[in-house]
Amino acid sequence: MAEYSNFASMNKCVFLDRDGVLNEDRPNYSYKLDHFKILPGVPEALKQLKDAGYLLVVVTNQSGIAQGIYTEEDMRKCHHHFQEVSEMAIDHFYFSPYHPTVTASLGRKPGSLLFEKAIAKFNIDTVQSWMVGDRGRDLIPAKQLGIRTIQIGDEVEEENRGDFEVGDLASAAQVILSNS
Ligand SMILES: [Mg+2]
Repeated sequence: MAEYSNFASMNKCVFLDRDGVLNEDRPNYSYKLDHFKILPGVPEALKQLKDAGYLLVVVTNQSGIAQGIYTEEDMRKCHHHFQEVSEMAIDHFYFSPYHPTVTASLGRKPGSLLFEKAIAKFNIDTVQSWMVGDRGRDLIPAKQLGIRTIQIGDEVEEENRGDFEVGDLASAAQVILSNS
């Protein structure tokens, strides 16, 4: 049964939405460094999760790229800044630059493609993993893949509610660490 031989080395992961979870969600998109505000307690919460052995993978819709509002380079500058502040906490940023009005994509949440890419690339055990997001579209793909969900805030539709509901990433980290 060679196909099961990697089971022991599977990784646990916390998937993270970006806007509204790691940084302020700005109505006009968080794409300029001046406007990219990391939320209080986020670097510390990520460090706790990393110390507990979790991979940290961001899955973010960045449709402003397809819409021509900002460029991939603008986004990468923000991610670079985030990594500097959080001491390289994020193992990988997956982003969907697409928007239905321009071009459809299976990678755009609530599509699950980017989660599935991460699971394959990092040999992730979904049963030991979590998704933290602030919208229903963040939680839907995680649920489909058997990943436990934590919602931040109360902007998730009733039918898509997370397994847990908290106010910020620091509280989400406590939920994860006490349910590991
Ligand atoms: Mg969000």
